Amino acid sequence: MNLSRRAFLAGATLLLARARADTPPGRTRLILLGTAGGPTPKARRAAPSQAIVVGNRIYLVDCGDGVARQLVLAGLPIQQLRKVLITHQHSDHNAGYGPLFLLSWGAALSRPVDVYGPPPLIEMTRHLLEAYDYDITLRMKDEERPPLAPLIRPHEITRAGEVFNDDGVRVTAALNEHPPIQYSFAYRFDTPDRSIVISGDTRAAKSVIALAKGADVLVHEALYREYFERPDAPQPPAVVRHILASHTDVADVARVAAEAGVKTLVLSHFVPTEGADAPTDEQWLAKAREHFEGEIILGQDLLEIR
Ligand SMILES: [Zn+2]
Ligand SMILES: [Zn+2]
Repeated sequence: MNLSRRAFLAGATLLLARARADTPPGRTRLILLGTAGGPTPKARRAAPSQAIVVGNRIYLVDCGDGVARQLVLAGLPIQQLRKVLITHQHSDHNAGYGPLFLLSWGAALSRPVDVYGPPPLIEMTRHLLEAYDYDITLRMKDEERPPLAPLIRPHEITRAGEVFNDDGVRVTAALNEHPPIQYSFAYRFDTPDRSIVISGDTRAAKSVIALAKGADVLVHEALYREYFERPDAPQPPAVVRHILASHTDVADVARVAAEAGVKTLVLSHFVPTEGADAPTDEQWLAKAREHFEGEIILGQDLLEIR
């Protein structure tokens, strides 16, 4: 491991230790597991995922690649996983879905987990189990593990409204705006002590503002528009067109937060995430600061939002 990687991991561990020490017992926790945006693998940030922990129950929003390992790095025991929500079926948000279950299966994951998300969630789940069938069948025989399929309960959602309300946790979905995807969602968690909204991928959307009204925390995706508007933009024109039409410039993210009246805005899903000429932390924050007076946090992997 090179020095910078070691320093990075040490920094992440320190953040985590500090977060744990400062979180009052019993409080709903929010941990950012991955804060990159877009499907290509990144060196400094993991793919999108958030963990919300209520008591000893873990709720996961999105399953970016490597989410199973991010849970381990965050010190969150996989056997406490209760529900998984997928915002939309872009690969940066679901590539870790199958591996999450395949790799958590067995002794660690012993009770069924409900999964909520847009179609084709049920078909995807079936195909993933088929793809993994060799390993699953082998381990069931060789290691006497239980079947994996009954531990995953996929539920497809196609409209806004309440997703579930149990164990003191109410989750509500809003259809956000992430063309050309028809079913793309933002989710709001209301727990006994905290309200947390995850925007998913979206351009600035009234539905997200309505969902986030008065929330304690809004985790919102963020785009730095000028980076892609340059004549020498580093992506093909079709990709740039998609990015500008379906994501939210960080200035507008701040306007969304202000209009919703949230207390804390967390920037995440950075587009671009990295690169020699990518915006600096200061540039992201400065653009947001012009339009939102509340607390603004620049998301980092494994950072707990207190
Ligand atoms: Zn995305
Ligand atoms: Zn997307």
